[in-house]
Amino acid sequence: MSEETVRKIYESVKDRWGNLANYIVIKNVVKRFCELNPTADPFRIDWAEHYRPDFEYDEILRELKKAYPMYKWGVGEEFSEEQYFSELYSYLVSQARELPEELRLKLIRELQAEFGFEEPKELEEAEAEVQKVESIQEVEVVEEKPVISLRLIAKYPAILEESKKIASTFTIDKIPREAYQRALTSIIEAIRHGIISTKLDNPVVEILSKPLMYVITALMPSPWLKSRVALAEALRMEKELYVDSIQVFNLLVERINDHLGYRIEKTDEHGEYKMYFIDYLKAAKPLLSEPRWKMVNKTVHRGYVFLNRAEVIRLIRSIYQQIILNKIMNINPRDVPEDIRRYAENVKQRIYEEVMKVKGVSDSVQSIKDIPPCIKSIMEKLSIGDDVSHLENFTIASYMINIGKSVEEVLELFKNRADYDEKIARYQIEHIAGMRGSRIKYKPPSCEKLRTVGICRNSGECPKWIKNPLNYNPIRSDVDGKNR
Ligand code: SF4
Repeated sequence: MSEETVRKIYESVKDRWGNLANYIVIKNVVKRFCELNPTADPFRIDWAEHYRPDFEYDEILRELKKAYPMYKWGVGEEFSEEQYFSELYSYLVSQARELPEELRLKLIRELQAEFGFEEPKELEEAEAEVQKVESIQEVEVVEEKPVISLRLIAKYPAILEESKKIASTFTIDKIPREAYQRALTSIIEAIRHGIISTKLDNPVVEILSKPLMYVITALMPSPWLKSRVALAEALRMEKELYVDSIQVFNLLVERINDHLGYRIEKTDEHGEYKMYFIDYLKAAKPLLSEPRWKMVNKTVHRGYVFLNRAEVIRLIRSIYQQIILNKIMNINPRDVPEDIRRYAENVKQRIYEEVMKVKGVSDSVQSIKDIPPCIKSIMEKLSIGDDVSHLENFTIASYMINIGKSVEEVLELFKNRADYDEKIARYQIEHIAGMRGSRIKYKPPSCEKLRTVGICRNSGECPKWIKNPLNYNPIRSDVDGKNR
């Protein structure tokens, strides 16, 4: 297996999953495939389709084994204690639906003792899994007909319109603090993990937190964050759709049909579901570059495209990712109530810092020891794709050039801008560096000028005598305790 093969497969997964694609995991999975199937062509596998960013290595292998049972995947083919337990555990959870609670937990405990688990966490997770199964069965499904419970609405607030009715019964001043906190946690989860968790301990808080999450995200100036939150929420729903019962799934499909005017129907002709081809083309638009989603590769009959449940779930994710993104993009900051605006302002810095941790700043920036506060602030804005004024652009570019950074290193800083155009940016930086036009190498504006236009961010760390950001050195106390 060549590095080139891995790289190509990784690129195809990245096209689909963006930065959620984990190179190390993909490399190991491909390596394992090639070792176990030395004569097989790895490009015959649709890696992007079966990779899941929230899955562990073993789970991805299991997914692939399900889709391509003709190949060896190293799971289930040979006996190992870990595999045996994994299968036994899945079996136990599937059987749990029929067993009384006490017996279910007893079985899990016995299993724990038999396999000598050291981590009590294993048991807690197993119990939580069992309770999840139980709650779905008891609360949501009664005689094959799902009941629209609060928990169900909290899981699918974008699909179940009841969430709007619940939210509208709360005036702004009555929204509980927990809903704000949950909205913030969800945004942070989206930034850190690319997927939001589902919390059902207080379904009302969860329901209220979603519109708050959209509004707070809309008030952040980063286009990257908006897309990230929309995708993370859609991925959360996708994950739930995979584990929910078929009755719940069919109910949600009905609702999607009602609200979006789609025609997705259950069938047993050529697949599990059929979707009217015009709806299919709309829903699958972002996926049509992949061969498996092209109409020519689908069974089409009398205007309907035939799909299995997993494919419908993937399309639902795609549809709601776009719906959520549109929702966020269409929020006008001027219409946002004062309380929410104030909260967003208070948490803005925290969100910025989280974005910075994930998106990071380039190595060249990290190598600068003492960055003046004004420059640091512009860097933060650039790294999350926030709007920066012409003067801020000029200030940071001239600062970097004057401390010895190359044009390429300065260009790196501007790459997250929504309107980034390499040619224009390069021209401007080269101009500032004295490589074009008047051949003058420009210096950053003076501190006085930056103070006047509101770019200065000095809150005491800059020396009193400073005239230009280039002279910056953080204040250190002299031996006699006086600042320099
Ligand atoms: S005093 Fe000068 S260097 Fe310090 S933050 Fe203000 S403009 Fe920047």
